[in-house]
Amino acid sequence: MSKSILSSADAIALEDKYGAHNYHPLPVVLAKGEGVYVWDVEGKKYYDFLSAYSAVNQGHCHPKLVEAIAKQAGTLALTSRAFYNDKLGSFEKKITALFGFDKVLPMNSGAEAVETALKLTRKWAYEVKGIQENKAIIVVCENNFHGRTTTIISFSNDEDARRHYGPYTDGFVRIPYNDLIALEAVLKNENVAGFLVEPIQGEAGVYVPEAGYLAKAKALCESNNVLFIADEVQTGIARTGKMLAVQHENVQPDILILGKALSGGMYPISAVLANDAIMSVIKPGQHGSTFGGNPIAAAVGIAALDIVLDEKLADNAQELGDLFRDELNKYISNSTICSMVRGKGLLNAILINDTEDSDTAWNICLRLRDNGLLAKPTHGNIIRFAPPLVMNKEQLLACVGIITSTLKDFEK
Ligand code: PLP
Repeated sequence: MSKSILSSADAIALEDKYGAHNYHPLPVVLAKGEGVYVWDVEGKKYYDFLSAYSAVNQGHCHPKLVEAIAKQAGTLALTSRAFYNDKLGSFEKKITALFGFDKVLPMNSGAEAVETALKLTRKWAYEVKGIQENKAIIVVCENNFHGRTTTIISFSNDEDARRHYGPYTDGFVRIPYNDLIALEAVLKNENVAGFLVEPIQGEAGVYVPEAGYLAKAKALCESNNVLFIADEVQTGIARTGKMLAVQHENVQPDILILGKALSGGMYPISAVLANDAIMSVIKPGQHGSTFGGNPIAAAVGIAALDIVLDEKLADNAQELGDLFRDELNKYISNSTICSMVRGKGLLNAILINDTEDSDTAWNICLRLRDNGLLAKPTHGNIIRFAPPLVMNKEQLLACVGIITSTLKDFEK
């Protein structure tokens, strides 16, 4: 690979000086990606074990995605929804058929799709369920992560995400995650319109609920005429070993939220799916986005979904995920530094034996980087591992080798 003109130090200094400090990146400056690999500006090669927070499930710069975006960008990029375009309908047909819904509403970022789902739920509450105006409640979970808008952080309990961004949006009640008794109790309130839940809490540290939780939660919602809203922005599109994480329990949500890997990381594309009885409450002029459903997004979305299906990435995630946890569990049984690996498919995390405010997990990630693998702590003592789903077995075992030999250096 030809070297970049900027050194890593130069690139970091530029971002430091001119960019807002709303992130704390691992010090590595990437200049190229292909499949499961990325290269830094000095030409060093790494395994990407984060996949842009599960957006790059199809691998970096998948040739079919590169072709789709280049072709569409050179043909027609943006019309806005003031006019029809010749790509959107095909994307809508494909995604609704694939996930079993009547309709889709396309947006751009994950947070926008969550906002869309919240608005849709409220409108349904007033116009269909018959809740009194401004009284609708949406139930959410402790330690949720659904994005960064003012409304979304209003119902977060992460003080870093919330502090000094008030006044906050009303109308949300938080209950513990993975707690059906709490859900059953809160659903007694007849003003509850929806239950918004991550099938696995990704940002919180890859918390997998007990088997049966999602199916029982869906049944409780159904019997109380409450919408079950699955935020699969991180867990969706094959990441956990099925196209959707809710499919592990045969759950069909009332509202499905997708983002990230819906474009294979090529472009910001998100979507909200629902049946007509729900989606039809939104009429022209009542919600929208200049870029949502644009021709590039539609072309990329079609290609991204085709890749996942053609390359059987869900099966690969399932198989390699099992192997990953088996291999790490062998190591962990004799480890003092790492106490647990958990996850589903290729969405996993390890727990580091140190306090949340320690820098041990960060230091392990720095050493992993030196050893050729990129990952990032999520919360102080948890490291998330989410490689692209196009990884093969040999590559996965090589990565397990890097992770375990790195952990060895930190054993007490
Ligand atoms: N929902 C979930 C479950 C997420 O994990 C994320 C991002 O990590 C979002 C929503 C927000 O997506 P975006 O960053 O594209 O706004």
